[in-house]
Amino acid sequence: MSANLFQLFVDEAKIREKMLMETPEGEIFSYARIFAMASQIAQSLKAQGLVPGERVLVQAEKSVLYVALYFAVLRAGGVFVPVNTAYTQAEVAYFISDARPVLVVRDLETMWEKAKAFTPDESIMPRARDDLAAILYTSGTTGRSKGAMLTHGNLASNALALKDVWRFTADDVLLHGLPIYHTHGLFVAINTVMLAQAQMLFLPKFDMGQMLRLMPRASVMMGVPTFYVRLLEKITREDAAHIRLFISGSAPLLAETHRAWKERTGHDILERYGMTETNMNTSNPYEGLRLPGSVGFPLPGVELRIREGVIEVRGPNVFKGYWGAPEKTAAEFREDGFFITGDMGSVDAQGYVHILGRSKDLVISGGLNVYPKEIEDRILEIEGVADCAVIGVPHRDFGEAVVAVVVGAGLTEADVITQLSEGLAKFKQPKRVIFVDDLPRNAMAKVQKNVLRQTYDDLFSA
Ligand code: AMP
Repeated sequence: MSANLFQLFVDEAKIREKMLMETPEGEIFSYARIFAMASQIAQSLKAQGLVPGERVLVQAEKSVLYVALYFAVLRAGGVFVPVNTAYTQAEVAYFISDARPVLVVRDLETMWEKAKAFTPDESIMPRARDDLAAILYTSGTTGRSKGAMLTHGNLASNALALKDVWRFTADDVLLHGLPIYHTHGLFVAINTVMLAQAQMLFLPKFDMGQMLRLMPRASVMMGVPTFYVRLLEKITREDAAHIRLFISGSAPLLAETHRAWKERTGHDILERYGMTETNMNTSNPYEGLRLPGSVGFPLPGVELRIREGVIEVRGPNVFKGYWGAPEKTAAEFREDGFFITGDMGSVDAQGYVHILGRSKDLVISGGLNVYPKEIEDRILEIEGVADCAVIGVPHRDFGEAVVAVVVGAGLTEADVITQLSEGLAKFKQPKRVIFVDDLPRNAMAKVQKNVLRQTYDDLFSA
């Protein structure tokens, strides 16, 4: 039996004429239409040399054609390699040299012009569970991007788990405002919808007006924390009344945002945790307490443990390794198959998992470990602080010195340091507090600490 993920999409699609996607302009695409487009594109890709196992790299704006291309590559047995639209030519050149795709797609309209000549058929290339479906480059906020190899089995098992734990059904309508070059918008969102035979209101990008306009027609929204922070500027209880589930992930959702959202809309945001390499690992419960500041419990089939303070996971969701980098892969797996996520975490007495930051962001000052999240949480409690990031920068005496980068109004460096001095050991206190207008964040809302470390690299070198 074929384990091609696309086969699963087709098997689940009982009513082909049902709508799959609607654009903000009101154009409707049925399952049948998208499947036909995917078939035409698949045939065109094959005619251009795509054979099973070969890669197709795409860098293009989010659109319906992009989704059809993703399905087409699966259909043809190829390996889908989406790259972030923010990457420059030079950066993309690296991905091309690394992934060695048979085809690079940048212009979806031209791709579609070529594909239109083909007559849709039903063919789907048989694939095994362990065959690659996609390579996703990691966001590289702690180092150079690496290609995570994801199999048909990885993606299918995760989408099935999410469909169950989040109770997706054919009645659901997902409000889709996420980018789709990333695991969140591409796999978590689209694969789960496909397996539930649900529908999507498909926005080219996050747009506050469009999100609010379409929300009354949706039943589920998935977002990164900044979606929630931004929507809080305007959202009312009525706007959110039709939604049964708000999901957040890809970066930490502040407990404060969770509480503000609950107060405003009446909804408890469900926070989950995953990464490119592992798909989703944990989720707060659908029924039961969604604990602010926690990422919930391991998903069914996912084993999770903490070793030396770091979260390790094992299960059918965990990727096959880094493309072309067997040593790197070996270094990040334990002998018993657990993957070392690099996220520091803890599990509380009730079994809820808490993320305490990336191990690579750990600051070692004067030989003592400083966990940035602990300091960040304290700084965020200070009145007038809107956002902050704590980093380590080179220091002659201490090795690394703790530096706080803060977004806030009406505060001085001394105010922050004075307020932190109570209840925080001296070695954890920032040696400097720097005020900025905004923290550098990527499209998935993650603070780019590598950028901050570079910026303040010689702060103490004078
Ligand atoms: P990416 O591979 O781009 O999806 O990034 C994965 C990383 O995002 C994880 O290793 C975590 O550090 C972080 N992350 C994802 N979800 C959460 C969450 N709910 N809370 C805190 N960090 C998260």
